[in-house]
Amino acid sequence: MTAIRLRGTAVLLVLAFSFVATAQTPPLTVLSRDGRKPLPVTTINNQDYVAVDDINTVFGTTAREDRLAGGLTITLRGRSIVLTADQNVVSVSGRLVSLAIPPLRRDNRWFVPAEFLPRAMSLILDTRLDLRRAAWLLIVGDVRAPRVVARVEAGTTNVTVTFEITPNTQAQVITQPGRVVVQFEADVLDLALPSLPPQTFLTGLTPGDTPNTVVLTTGPRYAMHRVTTSQADAGSGRLTVELLPAATTDASAPLNPAPVPDSRLVIPSQGPATGLRTVVIDPGHGGEELGTQGAKGTLEKDITLSVARRLRTLIESRLGAKVFLTREDDRTLSLDDRSAFANNHQADVFLSIHANSAVRPSLKGAEVYFLTVERADAEARKRSGENATALPALGGGSREIDLILWETAQARYLEQSAALAGYVEQALAGRIAMSPRPVQQAPFRVLVGANMPAALVEIGYLSNAEQEAQLATGAFQDQVAQALLDALIKFREFLEH
Ligand SMILES: [Zn+2]
Repeated sequence: MTAIRLRGTAVLLVLAFSFVATAQTPPLTVLSRDGRKPLPVTTINNQDYVAVDDINTVFGTTAREDRLAGGLTITLRGRSIVLTADQNVVSVSGRLVSLAIPPLRRDNRWFVPAEFLPRAMSLILDTRLDLRRAAWLLIVGDVRAPRVVARVEAGTTNVTVTFEITPNTQAQVITQPGRVVVQFEADVLDLALPSLPPQTFLTGLTPGDTPNTVVLTTGPRYAMHRVTTSQADAGSGRLTVELLPAATTDASAPLNPAPVPDSRLVIPSQGPATGLRTVVIDPGHGGEELGTQGAKGTLEKDITLSVARRLRTLIESRLGAKVFLTREDDRTLSLDDRSAFANNHQADVFLSIHANSAVRPSLKGAEVYFLTVERADAEARKRSGENATALPALGGGSREIDLILWETAQARYLEQSAALAGYVEQALAGRIAMSPRPVQQAPFRVLVGANMPAALVEIGYLSNAEQEAQLATGAFQDQVAQALLDALIKFREFLEH
């Protein structure tokens, strides 16, 4: 039994043996809301088949053979599939479904091709079955199972873990002792994790304890991280977790330092080297701009001013630093004027204070933000180190300032701002309720022009009745001010080491 096929000038002999070559292939992973189950796969003549008895085990179906007719009936809750060995067409509750490859009966077992699962089985299960061949997954029903492909890049001063997520799916990054957990808003993950390059920031990258998490086990060099999210393309998202060492004092250094082209000295310009001398606090909103408003009439602009004043008193007495508020009273001030104020006062740190609002009244807790800067701005950050110059500053003296676009001022301080945001989050978490996403990056206009480490704090939700009552009390505002002071003390230590 020899078949001869002509393919150009080459003659290929295909031998059709009287026996079939079978091989055990890795099982399909069946993902459902109940978790993962393996479904064994047998390769017969280079085609992937699944045994019907294994299907019965996984899906709870039953099968009855009709030897006389050479057929098999698979049943579940009154629905049935009738199939015949070597016939490409199967009947699903009376409806005909075509298969590219017919079912087989071998060694008293029935085998169906893998495509049988999404094409026929899904109809009697009355749920969607999604066969993902690349990942060798069978996804059952309405399971949110994004494809998550991780990539790890080791720089000299950082390690970056990038997750490409399809379809784009929200994720939270949670800090725990010895590890950073990425928790996706999904039921399970269709996960591809690489092996790690040699470095000491990250000792493990593994699936987490729950099926929707990935764990980054941190190494000795890790001190903090920053998280960036972006849209990769139409359907995909990208989440980057950058692991950083402690005491990164040179914010102007590119993350992967390029060789310096000539002997010209590049002056790192990052403000006073002596830590925290001047603090600018920005009470959000004011004047005509009320900010958000609680159901009982509490105004964001009043809360933020009250907290800022309390914080100023604490800083002046405990930290010995100069403190300026962007507004001392109830007045309207533009966002750009606020960061310009901080720049003119040679602030070493800029903290903007706000209260939050959400459509969902149950949302509560504090959140800390630092600036998102896109890739294009990172280039500006590299270049900006070469453009430092001294300009006269308000109130005498001079300040090294960068001839860079105002828009990119903050880009050079992102590492320090990330650290600041981290300290603020830690300090707040010890005293007041935190939101489920306590540290985030966002393109806040008020932070963009700040030429110093900067963060924005949303101290709670005025849209939550319980929090509106809390936020209006002096006791709560004192807690917030005390936490922010604690954070600034930590941040000063960070700057000085
Ligand atoms: Zn606000």
